[in-house]
Amino acid sequence: MPNRRRPPVAVLRTHAVPAAVAAISLAAALASWQYVRAAVQAQEVARFRERATAGTDALRDRMNAYVAMLRATRGFVEGTGGEPDRLGFRTYVQSIELTRYYRGIQGLGWCRALRPGEVGAHVTAVRAQWNPEYRVWPEGERALYSSIVFLEPLDWRNRRAIGFDMFSEPVRRAAMERARDTGDVAASGPVELVQEAGTERQAGFLVYLAVYARAPRSPEERRDLLRGWVYAPFRATDLLRSTLGDAPARTIGLAVYDGEAETPDALLYDDGTAARGAALTTAQRLEVAGRTWTVRHTATAAFVSRTDRALPALVLGVGAALTVLLFWITRSEVLARGRAEQDARRTAFLAAASQRLASDLDYRRTLPEVALLAAERVADVCVGCVVEPAGPLWFAGHRDPARAEAWLAAAAATGLDPQARTGMAAALSTGQPHEVDRAPDRVPFFAGSPALAARMREDRVDALLSVPLMVRGEPLGAITLLSAHGPFDAHDRALAEDLARLLAAAVDTARLTWRAQDAVRVRDEFLSIASHELKTPLTSLALQSDSLRASAGRGDAEALVRKSDVIRRSVDRLTRLVASLLDLSRINAGRLELELEPVDLAEVARDVVARFEEEAARAACPLSLEAPEPVVGRWDRVRLDQVLTNLLGNAVKYGPGRPVEIRVRADGDRALLSVRDHGIGISAADQRRIFERFERAVSRRHYGGFGLGLWIVREIVEVLGGTVRVESAPGAGSTFTVTLSRAPEPAAAHRTGAATTSPPPTA
Ligand code: ADP
Repeated sequence: MPNRRRPPVAVLRTHAVPAAVAAISLAAALASWQYVRAAVQAQEVARFRERATAGTDALRDRMNAYVAMLRATRGFVEGTGGEPDRLGFRTYVQSIELTRYYRGIQGLGWCRALRPGEVGAHVTAVRAQWNPEYRVWPEGERALYSSIVFLEPLDWRNRRAIGFDMFSEPVRRAAMERARDTGDVAASGPVELVQEAGTERQAGFLVYLAVYARAPRSPEERRDLLRGWVYAPFRATDLLRSTLGDAPARTIGLAVYDGEAETPDALLYDDGTAARGAALTTAQRLEVAGRTWTVRHTATAAFVSRTDRALPALVLGVGAALTVLLFWITRSEVLARGRAEQDARRTAFLAAASQRLASDLDYRRTLPEVALLAAERVADVCVGCVVEPAGPLWFAGHRDPARAEAWLAAAAATGLDPQARTGMAAALSTGQPHEVDRAPDRVPFFAGSPALAARMREDRVDALLSVPLMVRGEPLGAITLLSAHGPFDAHDRALAEDLARLLAAAVDTARLTWRAQDAVRVRDEFLSIASHELKTPLTSLALQSDSLRASAGRGDAEALVRKSDVIRRSVDRLTRLVASLLDLSRINAGRLELELEPVDLAEVARDVVARFEEEAARAACPLSLEAPEPVVGRWDRVRLDQVLTNLLGNAVKYGPGRPVEIRVRADGDRALLSVRDHGIGISAADQRRIFERFERAVSRRHYGGFGLGLWIVREIVEVLGGTVRVESAPGAGSTFTVTLSRAPEPAAAHRTGAATTSPPPTA
């Protein structure tokens, strides 16, 4: 049967529900992470495309501007009839503010086409006009020559190009021919410009626009009418830097190739920032003056912003944190609910237990029922005991009644060894809870007996918890809860202690109730005895006084004396009874006062014996007193007289027709007084009891009396610091011996205290 202390459903809920919530939350976090990552990536791609297109567009716009400027320059040159002079050209270039508005261009030039026969005259003319060192180079025989006549601005770099025959070099020539044959702008492939010098050499290219003597009408005419080319040389790096800005500031790497193949030969420009194997890259085609360029954009590491890169991780981090938080919150919710349910179960259990205990005062019946309840709801087995005057009262509970019997037998056989340091005996002797939770196979070592160990093994007990039943700081008994499902926790311990309190209160209440009921019964009995006892001498008094009057009428003096003696005895008896009642109330109220003085016990004995002569004679009890010497001590004379009177009265009452011996002697510091009769005697079982209040060992029908005489004797003797004991056997007579110290330590104060602690039943 499953243990009901921790239902499996609750255990499952404690772990499964928070885990499920955490799993859902984690899945959501992962999905969000995935989504954000994809969105960030898409955004990056879009941004990259946009930037790349913007870059290409900027380059196209710039090149278009140069082309437009070249067309304007052609217009200018045509306006001079194809023969611009140096000053005019320079003025023109200055007027368009080349270096200001056309940054990235290396220069703007005029290149004259020369048939072989024209070279000499041309050189001479130029030398004459402005440049004495002018020459057309390189040397050599060629079908058509060309010469850079003007190139503005005429800085040191451009000066190196003056006179150069670009037509002699194939790459340039291809472009120049194309320009000549199409009449449109034509860019060259990559070349090293003749201006190039120094260490930072760049790839370059040139854009040409042919100038004719007049508008040609056919392709053939184009060759014939060709006057030259306006052209612009470009240093690719300067051009691209001025167009797109400096490389270090850019987050997108740029490489430009002439043509569609991205080979090192075709490379015009590479800013060198592109990372190898970068994920984001795009190649765009760009038409530049009749050539196709490939513009390759590649995102650098700096392109992906740190925020964008961190965002998915941030989302994942926040998601994970939320998951942990949710798990924690759900778990504490579930735990709190579990605790609330546990509290409710606990309250229900305690309510059921108190209901059982309240339903019947007799805990001998209710304790086993509560033990069963505990075994069903709190533990697997519950064993307990209550210490009674007649020995421990054992009880046990188990869901299986046969096993409960077995546990009860094993526990009873084990008993409560006061030396035991574990389990119930330990809880009882220390008044503290005692717990054992070890490996299951170790717990039986704490059993205290082989029988109990065997039971523990059979029921696989792996934890036990003993709690004492305490009342006013005293242990009345103990209960032990045994578990076969792991150790007890703080809740179980609190519950066990609550249960122990309930049981202790129930046992205490029952005992107090029973004691009160006993006291009431004893008082009622006493009242009936007392009224009977008082009525007997009163009846005798009434009869005797009537008879006295009759005798007085007859003048019978002898009868008068006899009857007045009888009346006297009745009065004496009444006086003794009333004195006893008075002593009862005095002793109960702690007001037994002593008048200590030197008293001779032998003398007191002689007085009492003398007073008893007549009564003893009537009962046919010969009295003998053995008091050879005075026995003096500091005592209360009247009380000693009362002690002896009570003992002697009993001896005569319970031993009529037999002798009674009284002895008084000194024994060192002590004084001994004994009264011996040969009457009915007292059984051993009754000998202790008869010294208690109202206790009697004879039937009311045969012997009158309050049951107070011996109690008063004991109280007086003890208050004088002495003891009283009896030796007797039924039918063999009794000897009551009083031992007194001759210099008594009066215990009056002590007695007062004691009297108030035992509430009088007559109250
Ligand atoms: P009471 O004599 O009034 O009953 P006591 O207190 O004097 O009360 O005695 C208590 C009981 O002790 C008596 O009822 C009697 O049973 C027993 N008892 C006392 N003295 C003697 C005795 N000398 N012999 C036999 N029984 C005695």
